[in-house]
Amino acid sequence: MPGSSQDQSAAAIAGVLLHPGEEQRYRERTPRSLELLTRTQPVIPTGHAGGMWYQMPYPVLLERGKGSRVWDVDGNEYLDLRIGDWVLIHGHCNDHIRDAIAAQLDRGAQFGSPEWDLAYRMASLLADRMPSVEKVRFLVSGTETNLLALRLARAHTGRAKLAKATGSYHGIADVLVVGRSTISFVTHQVPPGVTQGVAQDVVEFPFNDPDGAAEVIEREAASLAAVIVEPVLGAAGMIPASTEFLRRLREVTERHGIVLIFDEVVTFPIAYGGAQAYHQVYPDLTTMSKAIGGGLPLAALGGRAELMDLLDPHRHGGKAPVTAASTFGGNQAALAAGIACLEQLTPDSHARVQALTERGKRGIDELGRRYGIPLHATGLGHVFAMHWTPEPVVDYRTRMQQDDEKIVNLGMALMNLGFYHFSFGSFLLSTAITEQDIDDLLAGIEQALHRLGLVG
Ligand code: PMP
Repeated sequence: MPGSSQDQSAAAIAGVLLHPGEEQRYRERTPRSLELLTRTQPVIPTGHAGGMWYQMPYPVLLERGKGSRVWDVDGNEYLDLRIGDWVLIHGHCNDHIRDAIAAQLDRGAQFGSPEWDLAYRMASLLADRMPSVEKVRFLVSGTETNLLALRLARAHTGRAKLAKATGSYHGIADVLVVGRSTISFVTHQVPPGVTQGVAQDVVEFPFNDPDGAAEVIEREAASLAAVIVEPVLGAAGMIPASTEFLRRLREVTERHGIVLIFDEVVTFPIAYGGAQAYHQVYPDLTTMSKAIGGGLPLAALGGRAELMDLLDPHRHGGKAPVTAASTFGGNQAALAAGIACLEQLTPDSHARVQALTERGKRGIDELGRRYGIPLHATGLGHVFAMHWTPEPVVDYRTRMQQDDEKIVNLGMALMNLGFYHFSFGSFLLSTAITEQDIDDLLAGIEQALHRLGLVG
């Protein structure tokens, strides 16, 4: 239904001109999605559940997934390069994970009470592979895990402020959405609904700029409780931090007694042991979610015992200094799924997916060179992205130079060619993806460039 409010909101958010031919193709393929979105919008403000990244001209509604494939309500099949928003590292309906969940449902989905032995097994799996993680506490979402990390840091240091990188994304809590963002639904530096009181506790430092970041942190050190960083900017478009940058954050925070938090909500699967193992830079606290739950909601805060013990009532006369309750934190079905997921996430499986990402990145850069267009790739581990920018994307400044209209139209054309992915040109791989899939994606990008008239 062209002209519906769903259409208008999508177009307004992107602020881009869609390629008429590709838009028509999209609409012709997906009439049922639009019809159903129009029906759901009166009860759901976005018209759909889940993530907030709009597909142009409107999102398609998915009905089913299996392995590396998803199907929408119009029956279109896609290669899934969005993996449930950074979650399904083994693809859809992985047998081992499904069996583990089914077996757990027969024993009990949720106890709330202490149980044996899922939490112990999952905590051990995390601590074994994450070099800086000695102890673990389970929660449900990335947002609340980052909030708990911040609270621990504040309790430990007696200081108030949080420093975060410009352009980063750490969840929807007030303190986490203050600052400059690359994503469309965070609209203001202090978004509506967030108080100045909260905003004054947030400091921004430049991403991938060791000297610039150190300068900000040194200046604010006396009031900084924590520095939080995504080792790969995820929502901003798969922009890896350099090892040098992370090392400098570690050095300067250590010197000033500031708690360093790695938000590994996205980066947990980039390598065995996450980004911290890959870079060999070790934070005080690590937040994890998304892939660790094997497709069910699960999050974990991990870190050094000295900090994590602030959550332990036994060490403090029966009352933990820092409160952390979570009804669904460590839900039994989610723990069973998470264990089954991690059991399959071996060093070999990481190496295979990393090689596919490198193949994808090389292919995108090669297309840029061959056609003389400013198309570049970023990424690491199981995530990569294409950017249309005059210079390679390494931070907020270079990312904001992106020609969003080109990327959105490439995305729409790729959807038409059967590649399901975020509307901002990012591709997330699962272990179900093959080399042939990557070669097909690269051929798809080349075909999309031609269809859009972006190359001769
Ligand atoms: N941190 C990062 C790096 C994320 O990408 C996200 C979600 N996209 C979050 C935190 C927030 O996680 P959640 O949506 O589970 O609250």
